[in-house]
Amino acid sequence: MRPFAHVRATSLEQAVAAARGDGARLLAGGTTLFDLMKLNVEAPATLVDISALPDLQDIAVSRRGLTVGALAKMADVAEHRDVRARYPALSESLTKAASQQLRNMATVGGNLLQRTRCGYFRGGAPYPCNKRAPGSGCAAIDGADRNLALLGTSDACIANYPGDWAVALVAFDAEIDILGSGGLRRIAVEALHRDPGSTPHIETVLEPGDVITRIHVPASRALRASTYHKVRDRASYAFALVSAAVGIDVAGGRIRDARIALGGVGARPLRVREAEAVLQGQRYTRALAIEAGEAALRGARTSTHNAFRVPLGVQTVADAIGIAMERA
Ligand code: SF4
Repeated sequence: MRPFAHVRATSLEQAVAAARGDGARLLAGGTTLFDLMKLNVEAPATLVDISALPDLQDIAVSRRGLTVGALAKMADVAEHRDVRARYPALSESLTKAASQQLRNMATVGGNLLQRTRCGYFRGGAPYPCNKRAPGSGCAAIDGADRNLALLGTSDACIANYPGDWAVALVAFDAEIDILGSGGLRRIAVEALHRDPGSTPHIETVLEPGDVITRIHVPASRALRASTYHKVRDRASYAFALVSAAVGIDVAGGRIRDARIALGGVGARPLRVREAEAVLQGQRYTRALAIEAGEAALRGARTSTHNAFRVPLGVQTVADAIGIAMERA
């Protein structure tokens, strides 16, 4: 790890100003950033520590939906009584992520900005990696790609987005507040992450100095009857081979509203509206759920190492639809 300066921000305005400096990175829970600093993948000149900022740890549930401060801990949101009761997909996406110890430290704002688990990215200098060293190439293409992305990739990068919480947020039209040098703005979580294209090192639309301050999730009947279904190599403390956030609203025996987002297989959290359209206005059957799953995975780019995740993804989406239907 290389030496760095540490600035403890005492106000949001101070944090925004300090985070605009060359080589500055925001520090909240630190559960991803410290790992990457120890691996020499990240080498910030300055850590702008926002972990002690007041008024950003609130969890507010109302008839209109959920609002959480970006510094709220994953565990606190996951275990909040009203979040568990009214917004099961949100709670489950958090409880199925990481370990209890990490959830106790990690923040819901920082969690949105997790970086890929691609081994070549984290492995450092011996490996070409366009995300870590732009223009150097991609060791994963023709390499160990078993757990990497199948959808939304590019010829420059096939890394997957590793998080769970953002997948659930994308499914249910969540938005984030961002404070930057131009003031406060609000964007959809779906608009936060960028496709890799030819610049996979630019992962989000955030500008230097931008601080995510709050997350808003509108209430909906589909969110009340929702689930986050995650399939992984072991039952806990593992990243998704594939996951699905699904919410269903049923009226008169037919599906009136369906929300579906995919995790684990996308270069970013993926809302799959083609799959939602398959369900719209239909009566639920297992065959219909499989059809929606096939729509969700359509267009997947596979190799011999990861092709198994397409049928796994179809089944995962179908299973999640079945769980949501039971809750609807
Ligand atoms: Fe780097 Fe992306 Fe290739 Fe992994 S997949 S080695 S992160 S460029």
